Amino acid sequence: MPGRDELVRYCNGLLDTGSFRDYCPNGLQVEGRRNVARIVSGVTASQALIEAAVEQQADLLLVHHGYFWKGEDACITGIKRQRLKSLLEHGINLLAYHLPLDAHPKLGNNACLARRFGLEVQGWFGDGQGPELACETTLDQPVTAAQLGAQIGLALGREAQHIDAGPVQVRRIGWCSGAAQGYLEAAARRGLDAFISGEISEPTVHIAREYGIHYFAAGHHASERYGVQALGEHLADYFGIEHFFIDIDNPV
Ligand SMILES: [Zn+2]
Repeated sequence: MPGRDELVRYCNGLLDTGSFRDYCPNGLQVEGRRNVARIVSGVTASQALIEAAVEQQADLLLVHHGYFWKGEDACITGIKRQRLKSLLEHGINLLAYHLPLDAHPKLGNNACLARRFGLEVQGWFGDGQGPELACETTLDQPVTAAQLGAQIGLALGREAQHIDAGPVQVRRIGWCSGAAQGYLEAAARRGLDAFISGEISEPTVHIAREYGIHYFAAGHHASERYGVQALGEHLADYFGIEHFFIDIDNPV
């Protein structure tokens, strides 16, 4: 059974956390017990996920969305107090990886999406400001936007919202998990025919129409279920410990 510190050190190295400028701390956010035999993973460290982890007698909760986001109220009140109280009372470590888990070339959300969509990662790009988190590919055989939408829906178990504004034949496709609708303009400027992310905002529709690019909002939660699972499974194999993924459904 690995010590918590050894496991955290290994993870931080694997995900190269030092090279990201993020909106939250990456790594151990809440310290719990010293040894880890059982990991529970989930997308967001909500109260429901914490309670499920308590029920599973987890030593460590691994998430993509943890706490202590830039600009949030620093006071330990309300639901933040309740979440921290539950973790601390049960000695559960909270390990959170945000951007490093989007970006990892094997275990990351976007690499996992590529496998689920059946697309090959041929390159990475960003919006020119932050890290290069989005992936792109060029298909050998073009598909229609409707075919691509069906493929996405099948892969994520959820119908994607499609802004039908691009060409009839789709050949160049980009994707980035979560709330990466802000990358749409960069995707269009690269000449992509379609871009897939989790969320959509009002301006996204106009950007898609004016650049002539398809946009698919596949679900923030749905598109970020796979990185933590891949990392949790990797840790279970590497350290010979248990791992369970718990999906707390979220329609957004
Ligand atoms: Zn996210």
